Amino acid sequence: MTNADLIHVLLPLPLAEPFTYRAGSAGPLAPGDIVEVPIGNRVSLGVVWDGTPAPLPEKAKLKDVLRRCDAPPIPQALRKLVDWVAAYTLNPTGAVLKMCLPEPRALIEPPPVRAVLRLGDASGVKASEQRERVLKIVRDQPGLSVTELAEAAAVSQAVVRKLLELGALVADQVPAFRPPAAPDWRRDGRALNTLQAEAAAALRAAAEAQDFSVTLLEGVTGAGKTEVYYEAVAAALARGRQVLVLLPEIALTQQSLDRFEQRFGAPAWAWHSEMAEGRRAATLRAISRGEAKVVIGARSALFLPYADLGLIVVDEEHDASYKQEEGVIYNARDMAVVRAKLEGIAVVLASATPSLESLHNVARRRYAHAVLPERHNAASLPRIQIVDMRKERLPTQRFISAPLVTALTETIAAGEQAMLFLNRRGYAPLTLCGACGHRLQCPNCAAWLVEHKRHGRLQCHHCGHQQRLPKNCPQCEAEDKFKACGPGVERLAEEAAMLFPDARLAVMASDTANTPRMIGEMLERMERREIDILIGTQIVAKGHHFPLLTLVGVIDADLGLAGGDPRAAERTHQLLTQVAGRAGRAAHPGRVLLQSFDPQHPVIAALSRHDTAGFLAAEMAERQRAGMPPFGRLAAVIISGTDQAEVEQAARALARVAPRGGGLSVLGPAPAPLHYLRGRYRERLLLKAEREIDVPAALREWMAKTKLPSGVKRTVDIDPYSFL
Ligand code: ADP
Ligand code: ZN
Repeated sequence: MTNADLIHVLLPLPLAEPFTYRAGSAGPLAPGDIVEVPIGNRVSLGVVWDGTPAPLPEKAKLKDVLRRCDAPPIPQALRKLVDWVAAYTLNPTGAVLKMCLPEPRALIEPPPVRAVLRLGDASGVKASEQRERVLKIVRDQPGLSVTELAEAAAVSQAVVRKLLELGALVADQVPAFRPPAAPDWRRDGRALNTLQAEAAAALRAAAEAQDFSVTLLEGVTGAGKTEVYYEAVAAALARGRQVLVLLPEIALTQQSLDRFEQRFGAPAWAWHSEMAEGRRAATLRAISRGEAKVVIGARSALFLPYADLGLIVVDEEHDASYKQEEGVIYNARDMAVVRAKLEGIAVVLASATPSLESLHNVARRRYAHAVLPERHNAASLPRIQIVDMRKERLPTQRFISAPLVTALTETIAAGEQAMLFLNRRGYAPLTLCGACGHRLQCPNCAAWLVEHKRHGRLQCHHCGHQQRLPKNCPQCEAEDKFKACGPGVERLAEEAAMLFPDARLAVMASDTANTPRMIGEMLERMERREIDILIGTQIVAKGHHFPLLTLVGVIDADLGLAGGDPRAAERTHQLLTQVAGRAGRAAHPGRVLLQSFDPQHPVIAALSRHDTAGFLAAEMAERQRAGMPPFGRLAAVIISGTDQAEVEQAARALARVAPRGGGLSVLGPAPAPLHYLRGRYRERLLLKAEREIDVPAALREWMAKTKLPSGVKRTVDIDPYSFL
């Protein structure tokens, strides 16, 4: 066997590293080629991977590649990204490749088609009322599928199928998705003001340089960041290259797609988890062939096999939703910078409230900085007022203070809109027995059950467990004694309805509005002034533009500040700044009321003074003192399993061989704040390292020193954002 015939093939499977195959009659093959290979007794698609396999013993049983597929090869920069991300996150390479090829067959199969119906020869068909109805609809409106037609005619699908069989209807195969027209980069955007034009020129130059660069585009909400980065998008499109715009929430995609279409005269391609399978396949295929010029998507769009990526924009770059917390744990903002580096292209990070990480990179002159200091058109920033809840003495289980009631009354009387913000889904975060104090807890998690009145159930927000409210307390058997404690958005809506019986209310949370269409509808109702008070969780905080919203009430400004998250202050500051930014974006000035039990807290105090710079400087100094990111690095190791003693023992064993000194230290093990999750006990260890240290290498060395019992699982989270 000649060694030259041996190749690496990587399969998009969660447990795989590259396997060795013989090119055989499929050769010659080059890295990046998509191939079909036998694996076990199945056939799988794989990608020819870089590197030459070591010579194998003569008798090694090697299989031949079955065939080379007719598909665009995976570009080298993406192969490097896969290797890099796998090494950085300590995951198998195949698990990362799977994120690049979520529908591998889409690359090699013809584009999805659908069968649509037109009239055939109905002469020999016995007429019936139902059949007449179906035929009439087809006559007026050819091009429906069987399902659509049956629905339109209110008949069963069998009726339609029978007509097809009899020849009265004929099916044609047409492309399932008509690709949108290419965006027209020649169209003029809005006339930019001086500062916008300056920032746009810098971004344009970065996009045209066709070289790696990172620019942080910073500007208050409404400053025109989107208008500005569209100029860079136009520049990349003018060179014929593809552009990716990442958004933190799928909730934002619809608005973003609409706006893009207005600017460039043709829609962008969307990518997110709620897409139908056929559309996903068509989109992936168009991306790999360079036909999808602009993709607007959630974090998972970052790893797709773009044929010729020329620019990446990460909008709301500070947002924690960029962190994927399951499977391969990664931060899409950071990996976007890595991808841009490997591709040799520009990346734009946009935010009104940039992360300390990005600001620090600006300070170290690694990132360029483009700043839009004012709102476009001098729309003024909202006035922020703190309501000291210690002085308010609200009755128990009431959450809207007197000053907020007054402000709401004034706003509604003026024909304007208000928003109440509370980052808690459901009715109440805690339900307890009024007789014995017993709290209802999830059977699978160390978490309280959250009442959702709308669904008539209690839910666990961590594992999805649901149950009815029991009649009797499981502890003292008292009947009907359960009391809801604390507010969720549903309960807040109840209170608002009681206070403002004539106002039109709407609630928006991720469990009530969870598709781009539902969110789009809600936003339109807001725009048409069909809503007076919008009550929502963080889903309403981000990016949306409400021209008539002039009052924002934050029910519990302190909510995010507790707990062991080193970014708690930063995140609360970002979130509340974003929420506040919803008020008064158009011609109407806005105001914001923050209800707080701790008005002296640095975050609340800074917000009330609009003193972002002061807050950031203090927070930066504190991080530096504590050696926390961005000055130091963190990695979390979570040990979990169903046997508590075994988990604790494994965590202690890992701690005993932990690296110490040389800029490294390990905290823990300690039970995780969620020490029981989905039926598994969890212990956490936290590795702290100085900035220069190669953390993945240190982790690999550490992890290799112990072997875990088979029932115990280890999860590595580099640069953790969640500390649960
Ligand atoms: P950001 O992304 O910074 O929040 P946007 O780009 O969404 O800001 O701009 C806020 C609003 O102001 C949008 O409605 C946008 O169309 C408008 N706008 C921004 N710049 C201009 C401009 N130069 N001319 C006209 N309208 C503008
Ligand atoms: Zn649970």
